[in-house]
Amino acid sequence: MTAATRPASGTARNTNTPHSGAGRVVVIGSLNMDLVARVPRMPAAGETLAGHTFAQVAGGKGGNQAVAAARLGARVAMIGRVGEDANGAMLRDGLEAEGIDCSLLAVSSTAPTGVALITVDDAGRNSIVIVAGSNGELTPADIVRNEAVLATADVVVCQLETPPETVAAALVAGHRLGKTVILNPAPATGPLPAHWLPLIDYLIPNEVEAAALSGLPIQCPHDAEAAALAMRNQGTRNVVITLGAAGIIAVLNGAPQHLEAPRVTAIDTTAAGDTFIGAFAAQLAQRVAVDHALRFAQQAAAVSVTRAGAQPSIPTRAEVEEALR
Ligand code: ADP
Repeated sequence: MTAATRPASGTARNTNTPHSGAGRVVVIGSLNMDLVARVPRMPAAGETLAGHTFAQVAGGKGGNQAVAAARLGARVAMIGRVGEDANGAMLRDGLEAEGIDCSLLAVSSTAPTGVALITVDDAGRNSIVIVAGSNGELTPADIVRNEAVLATADVVVCQLETPPETVAAALVAGHRLGKTVILNPAPATGPLPAHWLPLIDYLIPNEVEAAALSGLPIQCPHDAEAAALAMRNQGTRNVVITLGAAGIIAVLNGAPQHLEAPRVTAIDTTAAGDTFIGAFAAQLAQRVAVDHALRFAQQAAAVSVTRAGAQPSIPTRAEVEEALR
């Protein structure tokens, strides 16, 4: 592990030792090395610009959500694919340092580890280019090969940064095995295939993704309620839309509920959604009631936005429990 990938001192580390009774979460998804340049302004096409600083940090929605679930008390296994390169080795080391089971991580001999090229300007705006690399080579065969491990899970978590046929295979297997299946449909460009919907127990988009999935504009919590109801009526059991500082809209068994987020001073909202998903998955895996799990996940995400960075900002279970007191 290099200094660049080690959690910054003073930030969260996984000091939990998940005991054998801890719920088990299997995350199927992307692993990226984030290459982050701070720049005075966004470069124009053809321009070479001097940047302020550079950092290399572990990322990818799959990796971030796995780290969140592990720090927040679950035993976690990751199904993903890295390249046969230094980035892949560093990402694996980082996950293992969190106590995440990486024995299922496949290695591509043809594609490099996924990367995200991120520039952040002095006004705090960012631009991001993701090159999927080995994430694009995670196949349905990787799911079939690992079904015995999926069978040991309480909760299965997927996103959309791996090929759709692989996500579909994971949803089918998770559902068939009777697991609680969470899909974080990110990034979303349009409606999900209709046959996926009954396979999903919790569909958890943010508001941009919810608008893309439902085709309905979302400008306020009331719009989000309509979008959540529309998605539930299309056949997904439960829908939770995250609304940043405005909290969440949850459509569980009955009417939509708007749950406010804890008030905090946000300094960096990167990975708020990933923290929410990982926390919620860890809670459900530990058989916590859904309303408590949502409250815990909101508190975990609220703590994460008070700290800089993606994975370094994700709190431990003890920190969230302390904040909930
Ligand atoms: P994403 O990171 O996927 O865009 P959101 O921005 O919707 O997701 O954030 C996910 C969750 O994180 C929110 O539902 C909320 O619970 C929490 N959160 C995000 N921003 C804030 C904030 N400024 N204050 C408190 N909680 C926040």
